[in-house]
Amino acid sequence: MTEFDTLTIVTHPLVQHKLSLMRDKNCASQDFARLLTEISMLMAYEVTRDLAVTTTAVETPLEVMDAPTLAGKKLALISILRAGNGMLEGMRAVIPAARVGFVGLYRNEETLEPVDYYLNLPSHLSQRHVIALDPMLATGNSAAAAVDKIKSEGAVDISLMTLLAAPEGVRTFAARHPDVPIFTAALDRGLNEKGYILPGLGDAGDRIFATK
Ligand code: URA
Repeated sequence: MTEFDTLTIVTHPLVQHKLSLMRDKNCASQDFARLLTEISMLMAYEVTRDLAVTTTAVETPLEVMDAPTLAGKKLALISILRAGNGMLEGMRAVIPAARVGFVGLYRNEETLEPVDYYLNLPSHLSQRHVIALDPMLATGNSAAAAVDKIKSEGAVDISLMTLLAAPEGVRTFAARHPDVPIFTAALDRGLNEKGYILPGLGDAGDRIFATK
């Protein structure tokens, strides 16, 4: 067992091509946001691959059959604010019945403990498969703290979906949540002194929402 055992890199050519377009510093904000939506739709296929399936009786125009359908309660998509919101549209396009929640965290500079400034989660989390969304797994601290919070609200079956991951972030997150599989489109080289992923794509939130 290594610290990267829980990591899946989605190497599909369409995902990789779109990610390369996003990395370009000249990619306009509206294109960046659209590409993130498209990648989220494609990655959803991989992230949901192991969902439990049951059968439901369906009457076709010709006869009744036992047709495969998703088992259990509706999924929960939980956006880790604010950049996680950039993955919501694509995920909801392919899983429209999913319940949606939000976790917003900041770090208390005195205690260095994460404090949630916004928390709005779907009901019955313990019975849902939860997909936490955060495009950039950099230090891993905020994603790990967000998943702590999601677990403390009852969730037991959680995946983390990111766009880019740094090895430092994967190590930190996997050490705290070895039960949570991580999906990413790329594992980059590392972090710079400010905690940005290299080569990365800059600040995902700023690029999605055109705040800089
Ligand atoms: N968050 C970002 O948006 N970008 C990084 O490179 C690291 C954290």
